[in-house]
Amino acid sequence: MEYLPLFLRLRGAPVLLVGGGTVATRKARLLLRAGAALTVVAPRLCAELEALLAEEGGEWQQREYDPEDIRACRLAVAATSDAAVNAAVSRDAHARDLPVNVVDDPGLSSVIFPSIVDRDPLLIGISSSGQSPVLARILRRRIESLVPAAYGRLARFAGRMRERVKSAIPEDTPRRLFWEEHLEGALAEQVMAGREAEAEEALERHLEDTAALHRGEVYLVGAGPGDPDLLTFKAARLLQGADVVLYDRLVSPAIVDMARRDAERIYVGKRRADHTMPQAELNQLLLELARSGKRVIRLKGGDPFIFGRGGEEIELLARHGIPFQVVPGITAANGAACYAGIPLTHRDHAQSVRFVAGYLKGDSVEHDWTQFLSPTETLVFYMGLVGLDVICAELVGAGRDPDTPAALVERGTLEQQRVLTGTLATMPAVVEAERPSAPTLLIIGDVVRLHGDLAWFGDAPGF
Ligand code: SAH
Repeated sequence: MEYLPLFLRLRGAPVLLVGGGTVATRKARLLLRAGAALTVVAPRLCAELEALLAEEGGEWQQREYDPEDIRACRLAVAATSDAAVNAAVSRDAHARDLPVNVVDDPGLSSVIFPSIVDRDPLLIGISSSGQSPVLARILRRRIESLVPAAYGRLARFAGRMRERVKSAIPEDTPRRLFWEEHLEGALAEQVMAGREAEAEEALERHLEDTAALHRGEVYLVGAGPGDPDLLTFKAARLLQGADVVLYDRLVSPAIVDMARRDAERIYVGKRRADHTMPQAELNQLLLELARSGKRVIRLKGGDPFIFGRGGEEIELLARHGIPFQVVPGITAANGAACYAGIPLTHRDHAQSVRFVAGYLKGDSVEHDWTQFLSPTETLVFYMGLVGLDVICAELVGAGRDPDTPAALVERGTLEQQRVLTGTLATMPAVVEAERPSAPTLLIIGDVVRLHGDLAWFGDAPGF
C-alpha cells in the first residue's frame, strides 16, 4: 500500500493554498467545507474563487508564493499552473515535514486527495494512489448510486442515539446485533424519510420490548414505465429489504426480480375487464400483510398517484394506523414521450400538457370534450387504446383540427417500443392496420411533429 487512508480534522486549522485558478477553487471549496482557516496566496484570483472566499471566509494574499508561507500552516496545497512554483511549495513543505499536496502530481505530494462520496458525517474516500484519478471517479459514481442520499441523516441519528443504546444494552455483541438489525430495517427507513421523532420513539420502544419494532409497513412504489433503469434508487433499495412484493402486469419482470431473493412475490395483476384481484380485496391484503409484521412493497407501473389508484390503496392503511410511504415513479407519459422523442411541452408548440383518462365506459369516454381544444396544449391519453376511435372522433367533433398530429406509443421505454404516427383523422386507420397491443399511450398535439427529428430509441418502424 503506497498510501495510508486517514481522515484529517482541519476545523480551525491554518491551511495554505497556493494558486488562484479553477483547480485551486475546487480544492478551496473542499478545504472550506472541512472548516479549514484558509489562506490563498496568488497574484490573481478567478472570479469563482474570489466569490467563494467572500462567501465562505478565507483570506487572499495577493502576491507570489513565499517560502515563509509554509511556516504557519498545517497542510499546504499547491494548485498553480507554474511547475516551478508547485515544486518550490513541495520542496519547502517536505523540508519541514509538512503534509503537502501538489494537484495532479503525486510525485511532489506527500498526501493526495481522494474522490469523495459525501454523506456527511459519513464520508467515503476513494483513491487510485495517483495511478488513475478517472478510474477513482468512475468508482465514485458507482458508489454514489449505491449509497442513499439520506445516509448522512441516518449516521447522525445513530450518532445521537449511540449513548442511549449503549446504556440500555451495555454488552458489545447484542448491541452490535441491535444496530445491525435496525440500521437496515424499517427504523432506518423512517429516519431516512425524515420521521426521526417517530424512529426515536420506535427505538425507545424496542429497547424496552424487542417485539415492538416488528410492526409492518407498506411502501407504495412507482416502478416506472418499463425500462428497469428508470427505477428510482429509493425503489431499488426498498425492494432489497421487502418481505413481500405485490405487483401487476404493468411492472417489468426485471424489476420484480430485483426484490430480495427470498421475498414472497404476489401477482395481483389487472387486465382490462379481467381484474385478477378486486381492488377492495387487494386493499385488505395489504392491510393484513402489514398487520402480520411484514414489510410490504406494492409495485405500481409508472407513478402510483397517476391513474394508479394509489390513493385508494393507502386509504385503508391510513385508517388503520399502518405506517406507509409512497415512492414516486416516472409516469408512462414522461417515459414514453422521452423515449419517443416527443417533448410534451415546447416553446414553439405547446405551453401546457394534460394527462387524461381514456378508458371506455360502455361505448363512450366520459369527458367534456370542449375543454381539450387549445392548439397549444398537448394531450396524453392513458388507457386509450380501446377507445381510440371514440377519442379522436370526439375531439374533432368538439372542434379540434382533424389534422392535429397524433402518436400512439406502444410499450413505451421497453425494447419492443413502437411509435405509430398520424393525425386525429388518420389515427384510427393506422391503429387498425398496425394492431398495436397494450400498454399504449396516445399523445396528441403539435409536439408530435418533432418525433421525426428527435427520435433516438430503438429501431422500430416510424424511426
Ligand atoms: N400509474 C401509471 C398509469 C397506470 S394506467 C403511470 O403513471 O404510468 C395504465 C395505462 O398507462 C395504460 O393503459 C397505458 O395507457 C399507460 N402505460 C403504462 N405503461 C406504459 C408503457 N410502457 N407504454 C405506454 N403506455 C403505458
